[in-house]
Amino acid sequence: MGVVWEPPLSDEAAEWQKVARETAQAHFAPLAEELDRVQRYPWEHVTVLVETGLAGLYVGTEYGGRGAAFDTVCAVIEEISRACASTGAIVTAYALGASPIVLAGTPEQKAKYLGGLAEGRAVSFALTEVGAGSDAAGIRTTAVRTTNGWHLNGEKIYIGNGGASQYYVVFALTDPAAGTRGISAFVVDKDADGVVIDEYADKMGLRGTNTSNLKLDTVVGDEALLGTINKGMGLAMRTLNAGRITVAAQSVGVALAAYDVGSKEAARRHTFGTPIIDNQGISFPLADVATRITTARMLTHHAATTYAAGGDVSILGAMAKLDASETAHKAVDLAVQIFGGDGYCKPCPAERLYRDQRILEIYEGTSEIQRLVIGRAVKASST
Ligand SMILES: Cc1cc2nc3c(=O)[nH]c(=O)nc-3n(C[C@H](O)[C@H](O)[C@H](O)COP(=O)(O)OP(=O)(O)OC[C@H]3O[C@@H](n4cnc5c(N)ncnc54)[C@H](O)[C@@H]3O)c2cc1C
Repeated sequence: MGVVWEPPLSDEAAEWQKVARETAQAHFAPLAEELDRVQRYPWEHVTVLVETGLAGLYVGTEYGGRGAAFDTVCAVIEEISRACASTGAIVTAYALGASPIVLAGTPEQKAKYLGGLAEGRAVSFALTEVGAGSDAAGIRTTAVRTTNGWHLNGEKIYIGNGGASQYYVVFALTDPAAGTRGISAFVVDKDADGVVIDEYADKMGLRGTNTSNLKLDTVVGDEALLGTINKGMGLAMRTLNAGRITVAAQSVGVALAAYDVGSKEAARRHTFGTPIIDNQGISFPLADVATRITTARMLTHHAATTYAAGGDVSILGAMAKLDASETAHKAVDLAVQIFGGDGYCKPCPAERLYRDQRILEIYEGTSEIQRLVIGRAVKASST
């Protein structure tokens, strides 16, 4: 019986959590160290994700997927991230790319792009540009109507699963004078003329994932427009509202992994004739981390089930991401400390988790941006 709280999962979520746990332990955990060391995208994991149904878990059954609920997806992301943070991030990026299509795609678009995901042809979410990360309204990529279709021109950076994904949901200015009310979303095929993916980031952590830029000087047809013209910013924000909960689930997975290795090492390692866990200097921070993981997991589970039930998660999702990613920060920091010198050196799992964790406080909205979102809500409810 573990100390950290276990969420009361639905039968469906419990079943898929078991599949994810067995799959992750058999296939993903054994490669986690190597992927980090050589910085390699694990295509063999993609094959396993497709074969087990985990790749198309949240894709509707009518499109070849399993039609699982959002809280099931989060339970799976947590489990995979606990075994291999990079593979967990790949699955999280699947959800982020697929989400705008789930939210706004036509039946034809869903059949093409979501059906592809179930077979391993993923979709990436391409919003960020140089100078337009937190302030996403500052994007400069344009989509200009021509006689041939829409001419997309610009450059996206830091695209999760970049190069590995077949399709990209690109946010571009269709009415530059209208600001955030002049942004639209388009789906772009990486094999189209004028689409170039290069410059892969050499990252601190999650080194088994691809993070690339995306250069666009290409023409797409009307069928590439996703959702309503000039409503793309709202679509991006709705996507991120859900995406933040998946990052919270990822964070809980990484925190649990650090807590697992840290607490075991604290019981194993002896100094001055006793296990180091017998010192309150070690057991109290472990107690704090177990408590923080429990509350972060509760919040994440609540946000996931709320979203699955159609509830508003614009604040709840920000809170879950903020709390879970900062809990993961505490957990990896403590794990490194418990391992002592070994924790500072490769190939200690605590050292890898310490680097894998850091991005969780940055992507899909930094901790400052989550506080900004929550702070604005506090103000709105107080005036
Ligand atoms: C590995 C990785 C994967 C990514 N995946 C994707 C992806 O798949 N798709 C995608 O579109 N993007 C992706 N991103 C981009 C990511 O979402 C952005 O890097 C992130 O949102 C931060 O934007 P920025 O880097 O431009 O930092 P900036 O916006 O320049 O922020 C710099 C610092 O200033 C702080 N700051 C900014 N504004 C405020 C404010 N008003 N108040 C207080 N502090 C503030 C920020 O919190 C941060 O600490 C990824 C990035 C990485 C590194």
